[in-house]
Amino acid sequence: TEELMRRTEKLSIVGELAAGVAHEIRNPLTAISGFMEILQTVPPDVQEHYLAIVREELNHINVIVSEFLLLAKPQVATYKVNSLEPLVQDVVQLLQTQAILKNVVLVYHFDQNVLPIRCEANQMKQVLVNLVKNAVEAVPEGGHVEVRVEGCGQEVAIRVVDNGVGIPKERMKRLGEPFYSTKERGTGLGLMVSQRIVESHGGRMIVESTVGQGTTVSVVLPVSTDALQPV
Ligand code: ADP
Ligand code: MG
Repeated sequence: TEELMRRTEKLSIVGELAAGVAHEIRNPLTAISGFMEILQTVPPDVQEHYLAIVREELNHINVIVSEFLLLAKPQVATYKVNSLEPLVQDVVQLLQTQAILKNVVLVYHFDQNVLPIRCEANQMKQVLVNLVKNAVEAVPEGGHVEVRVEGCGQEVAIRVVDNGVGIPKERMKRLGEPFYSTKERGTGLGLMVSQRIVESHGGRMIVESTVGQGTTVSVVLPVSTDALQPV
Protein backbone atom coordinates (compact mmCIF):
# COMPACT_ATOMS: atom_id res chain seq x y z
CA THR A 1 0.00 0.00 0.00
CA GLU A 2 2.89 2.33 0.68
CA GLU A 3 4.11 1.54 -2.81
CA LEU A 4 0.64 2.21 -4.22
CA MET A 5 0.45 5.55 -2.44
CA ARG A 6 3.84 6.46 -3.73
CA ARG A 7 2.76 5.63 -7.24
CA THR A 8 -0.50 7.55 -6.97
CA GLU A 9 1.29 10.57 -5.60
CA LYS A 10 3.82 10.32 -8.35
CA LEU A 11 1.13 10.18 -11.01
CA SER A 12 -0.51 13.37 -9.78
CA ILE A 13 2.81 15.17 -9.77
CA VAL A 14 3.47 13.94 -13.28
CA GLY A 15 0.07 15.27 -14.32
CA GLU A 16 0.78 18.70 -12.89
CA LEU A 17 4.20 18.72 -14.44
CA ALA A 18 3.02 17.72 -17.88
CA ALA A 19 1.42 21.12 -18.39
CA GLY A 20 4.65 22.81 -17.36
CA VAL A 21 6.73 20.63 -19.64
CA ALA A 22 4.46 21.43 -22.56
CA HIS A 23 4.90 25.11 -21.81
CA GLU A 24 8.69 24.86 -21.45
CA ILE A 25 8.98 22.99 -24.71
CA ARG A 26 6.79 25.38 -26.65
CA ASN A 27 9.35 28.19 -26.47
CA PRO A 28 12.22 26.31 -28.11
CA LEU A 29 9.76 24.80 -30.59
CA THR A 30 8.56 28.25 -31.59
CA ALA A 31 12.14 29.35 -32.08
CA ILE A 32 12.91 26.27 -34.16
CA SER A 33 9.89 26.69 -36.45
CA GLY A 34 10.68 30.37 -36.89
CA PHE A 35 14.26 29.74 -37.95
CA MET A 36 13.31 26.82 -40.18
CA GLU A 37 10.77 28.94 -42.00
CA ILE A 38 13.25 31.65 -43.00
CA LEU A 39 16.21 29.32 -43.40
CA GLN A 40 16.03 29.14 -47.21
CA THR A 41 15.75 32.89 -47.60
CA VAL A 42 19.07 33.73 -45.95
CA PRO A 43 22.69 33.42 -47.17
CA PRO A 44 24.67 30.25 -46.31
CA ASP A 45 26.71 31.75 -43.46
CA VAL A 46 23.55 32.97 -41.76
CA GLN A 47 21.99 29.56 -42.39
CA GLU A 48 24.88 27.98 -40.52
CA HIS A 49 24.22 30.29 -37.59
CA TYR A 50 20.49 29.53 -37.58
CA LEU A 51 21.15 25.81 -37.71
CA ALA A 52 23.42 26.10 -34.67
CA ILE A 53 20.56 27.77 -32.80
CA VAL A 54 18.13 25.08 -33.92
CA ARG A 55 20.52 22.38 -32.71
CA GLU A 56 20.85 24.05 -29.34
CA GLU A 57 17.10 24.44 -28.95
CA LEU A 58 16.59 20.78 -29.87
CA ASN A 59 19.18 19.81 -27.32
CA HIS A 60 17.38 21.85 -24.67
CA ILE A 61 14.10 20.09 -25.44
CA ASN A 62 15.91 16.80 -25.16
CA VAL A 63 17.23 17.66 -21.68
CA ILE A 64 13.79 18.73 -20.46
CA VAL A 65 12.15 15.58 -21.78
CA SER A 66 14.83 13.31 -20.30
CA GLU A 67 14.53 14.84 -16.86
CA PHE A 68 10.76 14.64 -17.06
CA LEU A 69 10.85 10.99 -18.09
CA LEU A 70 12.83 10.17 -14.99
CA LEU A 71 9.74 11.12 -13.02
CA ALA A 72 7.12 9.77 -15.35
CA LYS A 73 8.65 6.44 -16.31
CA PRO A 74 7.10 3.65 -14.29
CA GLN A 75 10.36 2.21 -13.14
CA VAL A 76 10.56 -0.88 -11.05
CA ALA A 77 12.50 0.38 -8.10
CA THR A 78 14.81 -2.28 -6.79
CA TYR A 79 15.94 -1.16 -3.39
CA LYS A 80 19.12 -2.84 -2.34
CA VAL A 81 21.64 -2.42 0.41
CA ASN A 82 24.36 -0.31 -1.13
CA SER A 83 27.63 0.99 0.11
CA LEU A 84 27.84 4.67 -0.74
CA GLU A 85 31.51 4.79 -1.53
CA PRO A 86 31.48 3.25 -5.04
CA LEU A 87 28.31 5.14 -5.84
CA VAL A 88 29.83 8.52 -5.00
CA GLN A 89 33.06 7.57 -6.74
CA ASP A 90 31.14 6.79 -9.93
CA VAL A 91 29.36 10.11 -9.91
CA VAL A 92 32.49 12.12 -9.17
CA GLN A 93 34.29 10.33 -11.97
CA LEU A 94 31.41 10.99 -14.33
CA LEU A 95 31.47 14.72 -13.67
CA GLN A 96 35.22 15.09 -13.36
CA THR A 97 35.58 15.99 -17.06
CA GLN A 98 33.08 18.79 -16.75
CA ALA A 99 34.88 20.05 -13.64
CA ILE A 100 38.32 19.92 -15.24
CA LEU A 101 37.07 21.77 -18.31
CA LYS A 102 35.97 24.55 -16.00
CA ASN A 103 39.13 24.37 -13.95
CA VAL A 104 37.11 23.35 -10.90
CA VAL A 105 38.57 21.07 -8.24
CA LEU A 106 36.13 18.23 -7.58
CA VAL A 107 37.00 15.89 -4.72
CA TYR A 108 35.26 13.58 -2.28
CA HIS A 109 35.84 12.58 1.29
CA PHE A 110 34.59 9.59 3.25
CA ASP A 111 34.22 9.26 6.97
CA GLN A 112 35.19 5.86 8.24
CA ASN A 113 32.01 5.12 10.17
CA VAL A 114 29.59 5.29 7.25
CA LEU A 115 27.10 2.42 7.16
CA PRO A 116 25.41 1.18 3.98
CA ILE A 117 21.99 2.47 2.99
CA ARG A 118 19.03 0.83 1.36
CA CYS A 119 18.45 2.51 -1.97
CA GLU A 120 17.73 2.32 -5.66
CA ALA A 121 21.29 2.89 -6.85
CA ASN A 122 20.43 4.57 -10.15
CA GLN A 123 18.06 7.02 -8.53
CA MET A 124 20.58 7.87 -5.84
CA LYS A 125 23.22 8.42 -8.51
CA GLN A 126 20.81 10.70 -10.33
CA VAL A 127 20.42 12.78 -7.17
CA LEU A 128 24.17 13.11 -6.76
CA VAL A 129 24.68 13.95 -10.42
CA ASN A 130 22.10 16.73 -10.12
CA LEU A 131 23.63 18.17 -6.96
CA VAL A 132 27.26 17.96 -8.08
CA LYS A 133 26.35 19.47 -11.46
CA ASN A 134 24.65 22.39 -9.74
CA ALA A 135 27.70 22.86 -7.53
CA VAL A 136 30.12 22.83 -10.46
CA GLU A 137 27.87 25.27 -12.31
CA ALA A 138 27.72 27.57 -9.28
CA VAL A 139 31.46 28.00 -8.75
CA PRO A 140 33.72 30.32 -10.72
CA GLU A 141 36.85 29.15 -12.56
CA GLY A 142 39.24 27.72 -10.02
CA GLY A 143 36.38 26.95 -7.67
CA HIS A 144 36.09 24.02 -5.33
CA VAL A 145 33.45 21.31 -4.95
CA GLU A 146 33.60 18.58 -2.35
CA VAL A 147 31.32 15.61 -1.77
CA ARG A 148 31.54 14.59 1.89
CA VAL A 149 29.95 11.43 3.20
CA GLU A 150 29.48 11.42 6.95
CA GLY A 151 27.96 8.89 9.27
CA CYS A 152 25.89 10.19 12.14
CA GLY A 153 24.24 7.47 14.20
CA GLN A 154 21.43 5.81 12.28
CA GLU A 155 21.75 8.27 9.44
CA VAL A 156 24.16 9.06 6.67
CA ALA A 157 24.73 12.56 5.35
CA ILE A 158 26.00 13.17 1.84
CA ARG A 159 27.03 16.80 1.61
CA VAL A 160 27.83 18.58 -1.62
CA VAL A 161 29.85 21.62 -0.63
CA ASP A 162 30.78 24.39 -3.05
CA ASN A 163 32.40 27.79 -2.71
CA GLY A 164 30.26 29.29 -5.44
CA VAL A 165 27.91 32.22 -5.83
CA GLY A 166 25.49 31.13 -3.13
CA ILE A 167 21.72 31.55 -3.04
CA PRO A 168 20.04 34.73 -1.80
CA LYS A 169 17.46 34.24 0.96
CA GLU A 170 14.49 35.28 -1.16
CA ARG A 171 15.36 32.61 -3.73
CA MET A 172 15.72 29.83 -1.17
CA LYS A 173 12.01 29.12 -0.91
CA ARG A 174 11.68 28.74 -4.66
CA LEU A 175 14.24 25.95 -4.82
CA GLY A 176 12.69 22.68 -5.92
CA GLU A 177 9.79 24.45 -7.58
CA PRO A 178 9.45 22.91 -11.05
CA PHE A 179 11.05 24.96 -13.83
CA TYR A 180 12.53 27.46 -11.40
CA SER A 181 15.98 28.14 -12.80
CA THR A 182 18.34 31.09 -12.80
CA LYS A 183 20.38 29.60 -15.63
CA GLU A 184 20.02 30.55 -19.24
CA ARG A 185 19.83 26.91 -20.23
CA GLY A 186 18.48 25.46 -17.01
CA THR A 187 15.49 23.15 -16.75
CA GLY A 188 14.70 23.83 -13.12
CA LEU A 189 13.86 20.17 -12.67
CA GLY A 190 17.04 18.85 -11.08
CA LEU A 191 16.37 19.84 -7.49
CA MET A 192 12.75 18.82 -7.64
CA VAL A 193 13.53 15.39 -9.03
CA SER A 194 16.28 14.99 -6.42
CA GLN A 195 14.00 15.97 -3.58
CA ARG A 196 11.32 13.48 -4.68
CA ILE A 197 13.86 10.68 -4.87
CA VAL A 198 15.37 11.50 -1.49
CA GLU A 199 11.93 11.62 0.14
CA SER A 200 10.94 8.31 -1.41
CA HIS A 201 14.02 6.89 0.33
CA GLY A 202 12.81 8.18 3.68
CA GLY A 203 15.41 10.91 3.70
CA ARG A 204 15.54 14.69 3.53
CA MET A 205 17.42 17.34 1.63
CA ILE A 206 18.78 20.46 3.32
CA VAL A 207 20.15 23.51 1.54
CA GLU A 208 22.38 25.96 3.39
CA SER A 209 23.89 28.88 1.56
CA THR A 210 25.68 32.17 2.02
CA VAL A 211 25.78 34.59 -0.87
CA GLY A 212 29.33 35.02 -2.12
CA GLN A 213 30.63 32.18 0.02
CA GLY A 214 28.97 29.06 -1.23
CA THR A 215 26.33 26.44 -0.79
CA THR A 216 26.04 23.11 0.97
CA VAL A 217 23.30 20.72 -0.07
CA SER A 218 22.94 17.80 2.32
CA VAL A 219 21.09 14.59 1.65
CA VAL A 220 20.37 12.79 4.89
CA LEU A 221 19.33 9.15 4.59
CA PRO A 222 18.53 6.41 7.08
CA VAL A 223 21.10 3.64 7.17
CA SER A 224 19.91 0.22 6.14
CA THR A 225 18.34 -1.62 9.06
CA ASP A 226 20.29 -4.66 7.94
CA ALA A 227 23.43 -2.72 8.73
CA LEU A 228 22.38 -1.76 12.24
CA GLN A 229 23.55 -3.79 15.21
CA PRO A 230 20.74 -4.87 17.53
CA VAL A 231 20.91 -2.86 20.75
P1 ADP B 1 18.81 24.01 -13.09
O1 ADP B 1 20.15 23.52 -12.64
O2 ADP B 1 18.39 23.43 -14.38
O3 ADP B 1 18.70 25.52 -13.05
P2 ADP B 1 17.93 22.91 -10.59
O4 ADP B 1 16.59 22.44 -10.12
O5 ADP B 1 19.03 21.93 -10.56
O6 ADP B 1 17.70 23.48 -12.04
O7 ADP B 1 18.34 24.18 -9.73
C1 ADP B 1 17.43 25.26 -9.62
C2 ADP B 1 18.15 26.55 -9.24
O8 ADP B 1 18.66 26.46 -7.92
C3 ADP B 1 19.35 26.89 -10.09
O9 ADP B 1 18.99 27.53 -11.30
C4 ADP B 1 20.15 27.80 -9.18
O10 ADP B 1 19.65 29.10 -9.21
C5 ADP B 1 19.84 27.23 -7.79
N1 ADP B 1 20.93 26.38 -7.29
C6 ADP B 1 20.92 25.03 -7.18
N2 ADP B 1 22.07 24.56 -6.67
C7 ADP B 1 22.86 25.63 -6.44
C8 ADP B 1 24.19 25.82 -5.91
N3 ADP B 1 24.95 24.78 -5.51
N4 ADP B 1 24.65 27.09 -5.80
C9 ADP B 1 23.89 28.14 -6.19
N5 ADP B 1 22.65 28.04 -6.70
C10 ADP B 1 22.12 26.81 -6.84
MG1 MG C 1 20.59 21.56 -12.06
